[in-house]
Amino acid sequence: MLPFIYERADTLHEALSAMEEVNQQPPTDAPSQFIAGGTNMSDYMRLGVNRPSRLVDINPIQETAMRTIALEGSELRLGALVRMSEAEDHAEINRRCPMLSESLKLAASRQIRNMATLGGNLLQRTRCEYFREISWPCNKRLPGSGCSAMDGFNRQHAILGVSDSCIATYHGDFAQALIALDASIEIQGRDANRRLPISELHRLPEDRPDIETVLRPDEMITAIIVQIPQWASRSTYLKVRDRQSYAFALASTAVALDLDGKNVRDVRIGLGGLATVPWRAVTAEDVLRGRPLTEEAANAAADAAFAEAKPREHNSFKVELGKQTLVRALMEVREMSL
Ligand code: SF4
Repeated sequence: MLPFIYERADTLHEALSAMEEVNQQPPTDAPSQFIAGGTNMSDYMRLGVNRPSRLVDINPIQETAMRTIALEGSELRLGALVRMSEAEDHAEINRRCPMLSESLKLAASRQIRNMATLGGNLLQRTRCEYFREISWPCNKRLPGSGCSAMDGFNRQHAILGVSDSCIATYHGDFAQALIALDASIEIQGRDANRRLPISELHRLPEDRPDIETVLRPDEMITAIIVQIPQWASRSTYLKVRDRQSYAFALASTAVALDLDGKNVRDVRIGLGGLATVPWRAVTAEDVLRGRPLTEEAANAAADAAFAEAKPREHNSFKVELGKQTLVRALMEVREMSL
């Protein structure tokens, strides 16, 4: 690991001021970077993938809104420094929107979730093996150097949202539930704050996979806002992986379902382990709205969700796995009561 300067920020203002000298590089490559739980950052610093010269520790920040969970009416406000385990243990979130709790519970290990923050979880970087091992060409690490995964071993890689430059999977779970619920994030910069739909946070790789989000180097996520529909108690997060614990998704589905008798009044679907960014299956939702949720309808929705899939040599199994995961999740939520 390269030497770096470590600083602590006691306030949001101090943390953002510490970023004043940052250059125009993407936040992930900027010389000064924030660190919170550090579960992803320390891993990639050790591997030499992430090489900040200065880390600004934001754990001491005392602003209450960044450290608390507030649920008032249908609005859930999650401070960005709330630990994943704290949110997953929140009984009322679990009762009113199980897919949010389950997407947290099924991630990593409890030890990691005790450390990792919700804001940091959204910004975690891909586990593409060629990105992690710095001797391989990788457009995300070094733009223009090539993509070793394209014709390499790509079993874990994405089939949706891919480009000719990068097929790395976004490996988070929580973001799939958030995107299904149209959540938004609050972002604080030096001079202004802004609110952004979570669907606009992550960038498709296109020809610049190194630029992963629309965050500017001097900006920080301070909170996540979710409007929880009354019917979201009928929701689930289904994660399929190589082993049942401490593994990333090969395919996952976040589903929330609003039924009018047997007909689908509304449905929200997020897909994980399959795309380069948190993925909302809009076409699948459109197939289901206004019709009875039969197995045939679920299969039609799954076909629509993967119509644009672009598998490579080793990950073509993900097309069928993704479809079956979606169908199973839909059938499970159909049987849930409000
Ligand atoms: Fe790098 Fe993306 Fe290719 Fe992986 S898939 S080697 S992260 S460019």
